[in-house]
Amino acid sequence: IEARLQRTQRLESLGQLAGGIAHDFNNLLAVILNYASFIVEDATGTPLAHDAEQIARAARRGSDLTHQLLAFARREVIRPRPLDVSTVVTEVEQMLKRSIGEHIGLTTVTAPLPPVMADPGQLEQVLVNLAVNARDAMPSGGHITIDTATVTVDDTHPAARSGLSPGCYVRLRVSDTGTGMPREVIEQAFDPFFTTKPSGQGTGLGLATVYGIVTQAGGTVHIYSETGFGTTITVLLPVTDAAVPQKRPAEATADLHGH
Ligand code: ADP
Repeated sequence: IEARLQRTQRLESLGQLAGGIAHDFNNLLAVILNYASFIVEDATGTPLAHDAEQIARAARRGSDLTHQLLAFARREVIRPRPLDVSTVVTEVEQMLKRSIGEHIGLTTVTAPLPPVMADPGQLEQVLVNLAVNARDAMPSGGHITIDTATVTVDDTHPAARSGLSPGCYVRLRVSDTGTGMPREVIEQAFDPFFTTKPSGQGTGLGLATVYGIVTQAGGTVHIYSETGFGTTITVLLPVTDAAVPQKRPAEATADLHGH
């Protein structure tokens, strides 16, 4: 437990450091992007405009990366509230389908669930990160299955042996039919900045972010993977006694009008 605590603290201070740098760096990138866009406009039709467009593209890519860093450092305020994981899965399904592309199938199997305490934006982030990783593991197509269930963790449950308190949990699983992960990759997968993706394509922050969000909500993340067959990431989140707030009639009406 001591080692785990130290590790968590190390991850947290690394996150804060990364967040601080990302923030300043993002401002610099904005300046680069701005001036590159001026050149693109002023020199339209010349080779210079083409070169400046490359600079702008790299700056935009850098800006995407720093946004991921900021999300990892969790600088934004988090507002945990009782929520239904199945509802969040249903809500993000279309968006996930768009971001994984048409060569990959997505099936969601959602059960009626008791509520968990979590920030809805963060739970979406968990789903997006896991789905994007699954997509990247299936370059020539495949299938992603997202399912939810209620599970009871007792003393004999594998998660209890790795320190999870017995009780009632919501299980969220994201499985893919991709490349799978060798043991040494699984061992480092949650480390910030660990990536096996080509330079410029991976940040190594996807699973570290998932780990941070889930453990902060009192849950666990587990990787099961077989190389050549695929990977299943299992998230367990403790069930809360609080009820999911119902939408007030005013909000429901506003939704109807597309606001
Ligand atoms: P990134 O995606 O930027 O590399 P992550 O922290 O999300 O960072 O993932 C770390 C590494 O774990 C990836 O580079 C990849 O090797 C491995 N990985 C994560 N998810 C999967 C998956 N579903 N299938 C195969 N490998 C995976």
